[in-house]
Amino acid sequence: MISGRESTRNWPSGYRAALCLSFDVDGIYGEANYQPASNTYALSQTEYDETGAIRLLEMLADFDVRSTFCWVGKVAEENPALVHRAFEDGHEIALHTWDHRYLDQMSDDEQRLDFRRTLKTLRDITGETPTGHKTGGWRYNTATHAIAQELGLAWIMDIPNGDLPTIQLPDPKRLPLVNLPPAAHYDDYNFFVDKMLTPQAAFEFWRDDLDVLRDEGKLMCLTMHPFVSGRPGPSRAIARLIEYAIDAGDIWIARADEIARWWLERHRSSLGSLNDFDDQVD
Ligand SMILES: [Zn+2]
Repeated sequence: MISGRESTRNWPSGYRAALCLSFDVDGIYGEANYQPASNTYALSQTEYDETGAIRLLEMLADFDVRSTFCWVGKVAEENPALVHRAFEDGHEIALHTWDHRYLDQMSDDEQRLDFRRTLKTLRDITGETPTGHKTGGWRYNTATHAIAQELGLAWIMDIPNGDLPTIQLPDPKRLPLVNLPPAAHYDDYNFFVDKMLTPQAAFEFWRDDLDVLRDEGKLMCLTMHPFVSGRPGPSRAIARLIEYAIDAGDIWIARADEIARWWLERHRSSLGSLNDFDDQVD
């Protein structure tokens, strides 16, 4: 364990660092961005999404840990029962585009429609309005985050600009967004699909990063996919990381909306006239 440096007080009392587990439920649509329709070898692997999601939900329940599920709207529409199960287990349900098409290739109006359609579909299933959005493939443009703001969302998980949340004001006249920084290094796809590394290698990579972030008082946002990390061995990499974080005793394992709410509250005084965002994040 690295030790010695005094961590800044970024997190709720008793916590030295934060860990956000996010799961992107892409269905076939994520792979379809990379693969031709004829590549059934790759595309068929996404059929494992539900099996993987159930394994992960059971694991999270065993640890009594809440996470954030970013759902492709079309996948949610095809299998609302799975969305409902995650929601009933206490996990956050957030947007992950309608069909995983890249937003940077759409007009502003197409993006707006994509957000609205996904938001409505998720809200119709859970009865709760989602407050966060992760862009498919992290392919966004200058309009994307202004639209998220326009629709009253509280957080995005798109910009890998550091190890702490940042306040984003694409439109300075609107309420702020909190960016929770993702990283290719924290994307299971890079460990278990592009390269088939061992779960032990992934665990050790993430554990070493978590040690440094804990020492510095920062945040780790993992991006995982049920058809990848929900497989037997990879699911153990996640389980071991959660166990490690719990055993540390001072790592706040929280949903993205909880972290965004905390960050906004903590920076309320520095936001000047934008001092009433309770309606946005509650
Ligand atoms: Zn995705």
